[in-house]
Amino acid sequence: MCGIIGFTGNEPAKDIIIGGLERLEYRGYDSAGLALLSNDQIQVRKRTGKVEELRKLCEAEKMPATCGIGHTRWATHGEPSDINAHPHTNVSGTIAIVHNGIIENYAKIKNWLQSQGVVFKSQTDTEVVAHLINYYYEQKKDIFYAVLQALKKLEGSYALGVVCKDFPDRVIAARKDCPLIVGVGNGENFIASDVPAIL
Ligand code: GLU
Repeated sequence: MCGIIGFTGNEPAKDIIIGGLERLEYRGYDSAGLALLSNDQIQVRKRTGKVEELRKLCEAEKMPATCGIGHTRWATHGEPSDINAHPHTNVSGTIAIVHNGIIENYAKIKNWLQSQGVVFKSQTDTEVVAHLINYYYEQKKDIFYAVLQALKKLEGSYALGVVCKDFPDRVIAARKDCPLIVGVGNGENFIASDVPAIL
């Protein structure tokens, strides 16, 4: 179990995401992280410990991004650590994802990706999803297509939030056997593992 949040709108996303994660902390609390789309790049910040540690890490930083994703983790694959904390990215850091659930066939996908030259950073099952999305993104440069193709290869359970540098106001979401809600607002939209995160 873990908590996911995503936001796209006109307000700075950092505090909305961290505030949402604090209200999801009952779902997991070994580490927390966020990815923000800012100035043609994705800023990823993550840290072992409670969401408060993430808040401290980001406190002094000016982060004007109005789109991003966040995660509070309850580890299933890979110990709680800064590296295993979500979000996870593709090699170039242009695609970032958060995941709740377990990818049952991650070892098989990981072996195949490694045979294609992908170097992994973490011990998580989640990281394969970031690299798999990247693999399909390279085919058409269409993030929606890439996520759909990647999902076809996954076995297990997931709620996913995905952002891509080339689509700076978009959060792609998907779920299978894990909770994920969509909040549609006025000029802003949310995803979250549970209602309190976006109230
Ligand atoms: N399986 C993923 C991990 O260990 C996600 C765990 C979760 O849902 O909290 O990082």
